[in-house]
Formats: sequence, structure tokens, C-alpha cells
Amino acid sequence: MEPFNAKPIPGDTSAVQCGQLQSPILDALGRPLRDLRISVTDRCNFRCTYCMPKQVFGSGFQFIRHQDMLSFEEIARLASIFTSLGIAKVRLTGGEPLLRRHIERLVGYLADIKCPDGSGLDLALTTNGSVLRQKAKALFDAGLKRITVSLDALDNDTYMKMNDVGFPVSIVLDAIEYALAVGFSPVKVNAVIRKGYNEGQILPLVAHFKGTPVILRFIEYMDAGTRSGWHTDQIVPSARIIETIQSKYPIEPLEANYPGETAERWRHTDGGGEIGVISSITQPFCSACSRIRLSTDGKIYPCLFSTTGFDLRQLIRSGQPDDTIRQAVVDYWHSRADRYSELRLKKEYQQDGQRIEMHYIGG
Ligand code: SAM
Ligand code: SF4
Ligand code: SF4
Repeated sequence: MEPFNAKPIPGDTSAVQCGQLQSPILDALGRPLRDLRISVTDRCNFRCTYCMPKQVFGSGFQFIRHQDMLSFEEIARLASIFTSLGIAKVRLTGGEPLLRRHIERLVGYLADIKCPDGSGLDLALTTNGSVLRQKAKALFDAGLKRITVSLDALDNDTYMKMNDVGFPVSIVLDAIEYALAVGFSPVKVNAVIRKGYNEGQILPLVAHFKGTPVILRFIEYMDAGTRSGWHTDQIVPSARIIETIQSKYPIEPLEANYPGETAERWRHTDGGGEIGVISSITQPFCSACSRIRLSTDGKIYPCLFSTTGFDLRQLIRSGQPDDTIRQAVVDYWHSRADRYSELRLKKEYQQDGQRIEMHYIGG
């Protein structure tokens, strides 16, 4: 397949790097479009209690039909259009992205997308790590360089309770080692902390990854989707997570890598590496949120908490040219005013409609 080349948008004719348009596309709150999350499948082999709880998904949940999923060629075409609009980062997610057959072929297509100056996208993938060992080399060779593995516990019993399918932690720990050996850099590990389930795993996780190149990040449990039975009582605020770490390991704050970075960065004072906290509930970062989400069946969503999306698959499959799709995305982004987490914090918001599930919209 020929590489896709991102076309510069009208008025932006200089040789620009990915994400460095002279006139970025801004939403209604002045936020640029920079970051694309692509959910490549809504299926998963885990039933994490906070994402796809078994009692709901074991009982006839309808997954997207194969013919309704975007093909790799369709995804790559859209990614190329998005790149021409200022997207610099693309993250593949799901569902479990490594369950999509031949995912490395899609990675290859995305790695071929070039901005006018010849630079490529910042391409990353989030996985539960269950089949990462089998896939890591092919993904790396196809052009993926950054990977995030979700791992909520080090203790095997706790880990199996979190994934709720009895998947053993040793396989994921081995896959993380292997990803480092293959050359992924950085490898990040995300741990969602849910009170009553795994807050006792904060220190063991820190101990395990201290002194390794892995960046461990703790995520506040969010009210994503509709099915987890989320309650504020189950949040462990990032401030508490930091206090817990400090009770045993001296750590100090680090500067953000770039304005609006979602993770607050910390490091061990003895050089033992970096830790992050993502405070989606207690310190929302909506004012800097430049993310758009593309679902498995080709709808775009402006926010993780959206209730409706805009169908790009229908534009593609009805034969519309790139310029029509590009204009539709621009118009959609211009009207975006979503800031759900900020409103939740201010308790000002009663949401209408049913929120989209996270495994469908891409976490
Ligand atoms: N299956 C892959 C995985 O688990 O890494 C990718 C998709 S998953 C939806 C993406 C990320 O969302 C994971 O790191 C997961 O822990 C996180 N996540 C899912 N539900 C969440 C929730 N309710 N609150 C916070 N994070 C959540
Ligand atoms: Fe699957 Fe990831 Fe959701 Fe867990 S968080 S159920 S691994 S999609
Ligand atoms: Fe972005 Fe929506 Fe999350 Fe706010 S709540 S940071 S707008 S995805």
C-alpha cells in the first residue's frame, strides 16, 4: 500500500511539522485539535470491574459487527486527514487493541503518514498486556515506539480480581520486560486505583518499577460509561496517592513536559525514576484538552463523556472526497464546547442522554 501523505490545509502552505500548523483549528473554547485516540475494537478479553463489568457484559452485550468496523485503510485515510488538521499524536486503544487481527499492519500504515516537512506522527498504543509478548516485536518493527500497559496490581489475587477473568499478573509483567528489551521507549504502566479494591497495591507497584525505565502512572477512578456502578466513595484522590508514596519513598515534583500534560510528574529523589498521577476527577484538565476520539465504527467524539458522535464512516462509504471529510471535521471541532470533568467538579451539570462506554470510544 502507498504511504498516505497528509495534505496541508488551505492557508497553511509552509513545510510544517506534524501538529505545528500556523493556524491551528480551534474549538469553541479556543482549544486546538492535536490528539487523536482510535478505538480499533470494542472487544476485550478482560472484564475489568471499572470498565466492562462481567455482570453487564456477560449478558448479551452487542459488540460492533465486523462489517461496521472501519477497515485499516479507512482508519489510515482518516488519520491522514486528521494529521493535515494539526493532529500530532495518535494513540491506538479500545477495547483491547491487540485483539484486532494484524494490528501491526495498521501501525505500519500510520507510521507512513508524513507531515509536509517529512516528520511522522507520535504514535502510541495502550494495552492490557495480555498478548503483548506475542505482538511486541511486530509492532515495534512496524513503527510503534511508545507503549502503555495497564496494570492495576502486582499481587496476583488482586490483579485477577481487577481483570475478573482470572488472568495472571506474571504474563503481563513478563510482557513489560519484553517490550523494554525489544526497544520500546518509553514504556508506561497505568494503574487505576479504586478504593476497596487495590489501594493496597500503590506501594508494591512503586517498589516494583523503581529503578527501571518504566514510568508508572496512577489514574483516579472515573465515571466513564454507565455500567461500573461508579461512586465518589471509591475514588482515591491523587493527593492521597502521592502521600502514600511519600510515606515510604522520597519523591519530588517535576516540570510538565508540555503545557496541558494530563499527568502530573514526580520523581524519586534518589534517581529511581519517574511516577505520574492523572487526576481526572480532582483536578480536571479540560481547559487544555485537545483530544478527539474515533470509535471502532467510525464516529468521532469530542469528549470521553460524550453521549453522541458524528459519523465519518458514512461520509467515507458514500464516496466523499478528503476535502469534504476534512471540512466536516473542522466544522465539528469548531462547535466543541465539552468540558465534562470541570462541570462535574463544580456539580453544575446534569447530563442528558446515555454516555458512550469507554471500551467503545477508546480510553
Ligand atoms: N484495553 C486496553 C487497556 O486496558 O489498556 C486499552 C483500553 S482501556 C479502556 C484504556 C485505559 O482506560 C486503561 O488504562 C484503563 O485502565 C483505563 N480505564 C478504563 N476504565 C476506567 C475508569 N472507569 N476510570 C479510569 N480509567 C479507566
Ligand atoms: Fe478491557 Fe482495557 Fe476495559 Fe480492562 S480497561 S476491560 S482491559 S478495555
Ligand atoms: Fe477532555 Fe472531556 Fe476529559 Fe474534559 S472530560 S479532559 S473535555 S475528555
